[in-house]
Amino acid sequence: MKRTAIITGASRGIGRAITKALANKGFSLVLVYKNSHDKIKSLEEEIAGKCEFLSVCADVSSPNDAEKVYNRAKEKFGFVDTLINNAGISHIGFFDEETQESYNEVMDTNFRSAFTMCLLASKDMIANKFGRIVNVSSVWGQKGASMEVLYSASKHALIGLTRSLNAELAPSGILVNAVCPGVIDTDMNKHFSAEDRRFIEEDIPLGRFGKPEEVASVVSMLTDENLYIGGEDISVTAGY
Ligand code: NAP
Repeated sequence: MKRTAIITGASRGIGRAITKALANKGFSLVLVYKNSHDKIKSLEEEIAGKCEFLSVCADVSSPNDAEKVYNRAKEKFGFVDTLINNAGISHIGFFDEETQESYNEVMDTNFRSAFTMCLLASKDMIANKFGRIVNVSSVWGQKGASMEVLYSASKHALIGLTRSLNAELAPSGILVNAVCPGVIDTDMNKHFSAEDRRFIEEDIPLGRFGKPEEVASVVSMLTDENLYIGGEDISVTAGY
């Protein structure tokens, strides 16, 4: 069966690794990114010859941009059966310093983007009686995180979306799952000092940060046609 996936936040980190994993599986891919033009160009070079692809520069926190992504995907490939909602930003700070602006930025990027993309894609998936949706949540979507209240709330919301949407869409052949990475070695965690990093690694049973590829392999599995997993939030933390 021919497959087409939209991957948001494809340019770097976990989304980039997911892109390469799905390219190796022969998916047609829509690579969504916001700022990293050079990184998308180098990714295109890496996957060239493995699959068909289309790169779209868009801010998926904006419903208009998300719609543009979906329409361009449909124009190019005719259908979308797989949606990977991975784009996200971290946000660290004391709760009493949060504002309505920080709320909008974090919730729109981490949650509204997934809500909008699901809304756009689910109509066609229902009509086609098949779909796979993977939302990239976080360990902080499963547990509370001090100084990351907004981030954690946005990632909890993604898990609520995942569970409820799966309950509603699985009868139409659409399985919706979330992955919840622990601490993964990407730009998002570049701000840690060597000392902070050692301190965190001591709390991870495997003794190191995860690799983006180790998240991508789980996401890739959740896109399989032969799947009997739905509505789950799967920890990818090595026990952290
Ligand atoms: P990253 O290296 O910072 O990459 C973030 C990606 O999201 C980039 O491709 C970026 O595009 C894209 N992006 C951000 N805002 C966007 C927007 N408004 N519209 C379109 N694209 C946007 O982050 P990462 O570590 O790979 O994280 C990926 C996902 O995993 C996020 O949802 C994050 O919350 C989650 N996660 C990460 C960790 C971790 O430890 N790294 C742990 C748990 C969960 P540009 O490059 O164009 O800016």
